[in-house]
Amino acid sequence: MTQQLTKARITAVDTHDIRFPTSRWGWGSDAMNPDPDYSAAYVTIRTDAPDGLEGHGLCFTIGRGNEVAVTAIDALRPHLAGTELDETPAGLDARYRALAGDSQLRWLGPEKGVTHMALGAVVNALWDLYAKRQGKPLWKLLADLTPEELVAVADLRYLADALPPDEALLILRRAEPGRAEREARLRAEGYPAYASSPGWLGNSDAHVASAARRAVADGFTQIKLKVGADLEDDIRRCRIAREVVGPGVRIALDANQRWELGEAVEWTRALAGFDPYWIEEPTSPDEILGLAAIRRAVAPVKVAAGEHTANRVVFKQLLQAQALDVVQLDACRVGGIPELLSILLLAADFGVPVCPHAGGVGLCELVRHLAAFDYVAVSGRLADRTVEYVDHLHEHFTDPAVIARGRYTAPSVPGFSSTLRPESLRAYAYPDGAIWRTA
Ligand SMILES: [Mg+2]
Repeated sequence: MTQQLTKARITAVDTHDIRFPTSRWGWGSDAMNPDPDYSAAYVTIRTDAPDGLEGHGLCFTIGRGNEVAVTAIDALRPHLAGTELDETPAGLDARYRALAGDSQLRWLGPEKGVTHMALGAVVNALWDLYAKRQGKPLWKLLADLTPEELVAVADLRYLADALPPDEALLILRRAEPGRAEREARLRAEGYPAYASSPGWLGNSDAHVASAARRAVADGFTQIKLKVGADLEDDIRRCRIAREVVGPGVRIALDANQRWELGEAVEWTRALAGFDPYWIEEPTSPDEILGLAAIRRAVAPVKVAAGEHTANRVVFKQLLQAQALDVVQLDACRVGGIPELLSILLLAADFGVPVCPHAGGVGLCELVRHLAAFDYVAVSGRLADRTVEYVDHLHEHFTDPAVIARGRYTAPSVPGFSSTLRPESLRAYAYPDGAIWRTA
């Protein structure tokens, strides 16, 4: 049921350049990104409503260029400032289409890169505010919409050859009878997670071993290792990790786009003896045919990708080309809730599991909502599904991701969990926040 609310007008769209100096601490290093400073181009939408609630959204970046993303969000401000707030899914959909359809900004993509990520930040902030005003966590708000409402919200443009609206509706209707039962199970048991922190390329061998051991003790049944810089190092680290976790725990590998096609096949085969579960981003994220060729060559090792997939059209083609075993949805890469819904529907249509990308800053907080919603109302499945978990920067959020026995706890606070604490917004503001002034 959609709650009727008093009318509200958007009074401010504030942007913030927030950066965490994670490169100083050696967090997040991989074969392509040796020194990331996890950052958020952050947007706050305020209204004149007496409830004082705000919508919060973000683009995740890894440092330099965060100011470009902030500027791209700023470019959307004229569409929002002074306008009346959308209080229904249909109203939010109309707003999304107006934002996505800004023809002059669209020229910069279309539907890819910084302007598209900025669109996602703003659209997600609007959905955050809507869920807060409805008093529901976003996953629950979405799971309470009818199949017809969800199809109306999902952005199905350019997907009709693979996923016509009536097929999308069928997927959602099929999942409808079991919603309540799965919601109860989700609240009781949480959603499976896997641990990426053991595997940063900057970790020493001893750290890989101790962190992998701790992950298993904490209840994780899958860990991930970064690979792709040096084959001898990768062989040694895979051996260490496999010895520590034993045969029953899945080890995923992530090459972060490092390889040419032939190299990807050879390198993955060289590590196949350690029984890797998937190889992630073996090559360029735009390599649709190449990913399909790699997948055929490295089976039974699975191919996973999606954190850099620009939009739903590329996901469609990856699935049509049978290039992916695992869809790695990212909450902040594409155009926000309408496009995220279309990607979940595509994956369900092709029967490919979604294992969302997370980590960074805020990605775990946001994407757990989408995984929960997918389980309750779209795919209805948990088998071979798991959400990435990285154990840092959660303390900066007012509704941080919570992990218990290797599973994400279902969020219970209204909104999209994208709200940074005011003190973190101040301290990590770039370049004038306290943390950067003392660098
Ligand atoms: Mg990755």
